[in-house]
Amino acid sequence: MKKRLLCLLFISSIFAFGQTKTADDSLTPLQKLEEGNNRFTAGKPVHPDETLERLRELKKGQHPFAIVVSCSDSRVPAELVFDQGLGDIFSIRTAGNVMGDYELGSIEYAVEHLDCKLIVVMGHKDCGAIKAFINSKGHYEHSDHIKKIIEYIESENEEKKLANNHELSIDKAIDANIEHGVLFLKTAEPILKEFYDTKKVEIVGAIYDIETGKVTFDKNTKI
Ligand SMILES: [Zn+2]
Repeated sequence: MKKRLLCLLFISSIFAFGQTKTADDSLTPLQKLEEGNNRFTAGKPVHPDETLERLRELKKGQHPFAIVVSCSDSRVPAELVFDQGLGDIFSIRTAGNVMGDYELGSIEYAVEHLDCKLIVVMGHKDCGAIKAFINSKGHYEHSDHIKKIIEYIESENEEKKLANNHELSIDKAIDANIEHGVLFLKTAEPILKEFYDTKKVEIVGAIYDIETGKVTFDKNTKI
């Protein structure tokens, strides 16, 4: 009898877990990310979509609801920060969330072929790539590939404006870098510009606080 009861409890706990693991489809993609981040910062993540069942289900195909472009920094993993799981986020990560043709091609693929309706460009506080750019003051001495990342950040118009006005600080440079990423995607021809102009995709900037875990979305960059 005891065994039967335990067995029933076990089955019902699996069922209950199954109910909480699924994302609420009544939410917009942005709301799903916001709610996931609220759970994460409250210390109450539900770790959705991490089961073998989900793994097998995804063999049929992926339909991630958002693209997140973020930094490779080990403290900024999109799936954890937004409390999402397998098949939920199409993730692009480079140091300083810089984007070139390969990243753009990946994003175009997710928008055009996977039907993603939201792109988030997420910078983060205390970003090492932005710090390296600030510290180099336009004279990065080494000839390694990190130089390419710093040169990219240096070439951003938004960063240049700050430097010209002597307003360059790490926080302002991080904001400028996010603004640059959002504008870069909104105007990227031929695919993204058309999808953005015809309101088929939303492109939003965001900043992640590595101390609190909080993601703040820049609603001004919303459609
Ligand atoms: Zn970073």
